[in-house]
Amino acid sequence: MVEVLQISQLGNPVLRQIAQPVEHLHSLEMQTLIDRLLATLVQSNGVGIAAPQVAASVQLLIVASRPNPRYPTAPQMEPTVMVNPRLLSHSEEQIKDWEGCLSIPGIRGLVPRYREIEVEYFDRHGNPHRQIFTNFPARIFQHEADHLIGKVFLDRLESVQDLITDQEYLTRILHL
Ligand code: ZN
Repeated sequence: MVEVLQISQLGNPVLRQIAQPVEHLHSLEMQTLIDRLLATLVQSNGVGIAAPQVAASVQLLIVASRPNPRYPTAPQMEPTVMVNPRLLSHSEEQIKDWEGCLSIPGIRGLVPRYREIEVEYFDRHGNPHRQIFTNFPARIFQHEADHLIGKVFLDRLESVQDLITDQEYLTRILHL
């Protein structure tokens, strides 16, 4: 059974560090970290996670949109592990939508993000990929990539008034 890791919470300095590039992708240590990150994501009902959230300050993130209790309306996709990801280009257009963060429990924010992005990254085997994401998966990528440069979604808000509690999000926004 793969170990589930503890999630760093807002205030932990690791969330404000610039993550280092992954250098030894094929090492047992890095492959184990990827397995644990995937297991932690599933267990915590996340749709994405970045390595600094489990106190590993390296450029590794997972985008894994799927409907779950925290995001009941999220689209389904295969979990995508991204090593040393880079944003290549983005749409002019930004859209605002609700985000939460496993490191900031209990609240949601209305965050502007580019609607469409093109990214490049290496998969866990070291193969390079170029991929276009739109809408919610694009949002997840931008959120997780922010974790690699020491930013959280609170830093991207246009107004503190765009913050609400989880409970209000589920009842007022999703009408659950
Ligand atoms: Zn987050």
